[in-house]
Amino acid sequence: MGQKYRAAYLSGPAMFEIREARAPDKLLPGYFLGDVVCCAICGSDRGFWTAGIKKNVLGHEMTVTVTDPGDTHLNAGDRVCMFPGIPCWECESCRQGRDNICTTIYYKGYTGLSADGGYAEKYMGPGAYAVKVPDHVSSQAAALTEPLATAVHAVRQSSVRLGDKVLVIGAGPIGLYCADLAKRAGASLVVISEYSASRLAEAKKRSALVTYGRETAIKNKNFLGTDPICDLRNSFPQIAPREAPQRLDPTPVLLKNKVFQQINENLGCGLPRQPTLDGYYEASDPELIAQLKAAGGDKGNGGGFDTVFECAASAAGYATAAAVTKYAGEVIMVGLSAKPTDIVTQMYALREIRVVPSMGYTWKEFQKALALIAGGAVRPERYVTKTVGLNELQAAFEHLFHDPANADLKILVEPNQSSQASAHGEKNDEKI
Ligand SMILES: [Zn+2]
Ligand SMILES: [Zn+2]
Repeated sequence: MGQKYRAAYLSGPAMFEIREARAPDKLLPGYFLGDVVCCAICGSDRGFWTAGIKKNVLGHEMTVTVTDPGDTHLNAGDRVCMFPGIPCWECESCRQGRDNICTTIYYKGYTGLSADGGYAEKYMGPGAYAVKVPDHVSSQAAALTEPLATAVHAVRQSSVRLGDKVLVIGAGPIGLYCADLAKRAGASLVVISEYSASRLAEAKKRSALVTYGRETAIKNKNFLGTDPICDLRNSFPQIAPREAPQRLDPTPVLLKNKVFQQINENLGCGLPRQPTLDGYYEASDPELIAQLKAAGGDKGNGGGFDTVFECAASAAGYATAAAVTKYAGEVIMVGLSAKPTDIVTQMYALREIRVVPSMGYTWKEFQKALALIAGGAVRPERYVTKTVGLNELQAAFEHLFHDPANADLKILVEPNQSSQASAHGEKNDEKI
């Protein structure tokens, strides 16, 4: 008989129940079995949880340690993050390299949707869509490859170019990733608006664009909460004394000594302490549009933002976007709603503003997202505000989706940890 493990099943509308599950006696060809290290809660899980009709275990933003590689290319002990969909590679979209809109991707074997996902101690998945996590990337960061890939696709759908002005509507994780990546893509001005003042404050605290990831290259361990200014004497615990460190960046002379710290910061090696996005606006402010017009340089003469990422899927968001996007600019449709969203088409037509939809990400973009994390271009774990065990999953969903005072951005579930919720607060944040 296969191993027993605990998994969160939906037992009704908005209700999880932790039940015992059993791993298969024999793995299916092409599949591996592993322990879930962590799985992040995604906004897209909300609808399935609310409806309570899915039979499968939810959760698709995860890192897994392989315990039984089966007949796949993986090895026991590998850490992998999962590309959750299985494109058909045969439909028109797939053949055009647009497997994000494959006609069957959400129906067959989609991890955490039509196949069991990561809100469980164990996970069985297709080896072909398991991407090995580089040693220097933390499991937390790797689990967030999936939502980051959504923002990678959104920015690649846009035409953001060097020096452009960008507005992001909605400071949820996807909005924040879009903002970080737009800045990375060369935008000169990136501002963000959000209805919830508490969320906006949390986003502001955490949204420093990190231009540096070198401590990850010399610390082969979880870097959430590690000190970015490393003591070189303790930096290579995993390397045998006579082995030369491999592929070390020549510049990270990171010492605790304050003088060196200053030098590192001057060299651009230090972590910026202040958020570097350029503006944060409360969307509930009646003066919002006037403020954004001023920020975007719209004096009624065709100025405004070159690109707006609408990540809220709201009528108010589209009205704001239409008012502050420049003539012939673009609005990227990132947030999705199953309900109708009012858009005053005239406002878009008068300025010939293009609305560009952005749906998910391709297999290639998923790998690009992990490469961006591995290269230190972006640190998605920065927006993790809480880590919980499987027993707190229900409470975490209620808090994230039903509590109007919620300020949490991203919550991670660690199914194999004993249930102790921990907040990644100011103290931890200081170190990131
Ligand atoms: Zn997701
Ligand atoms: Zn297809």
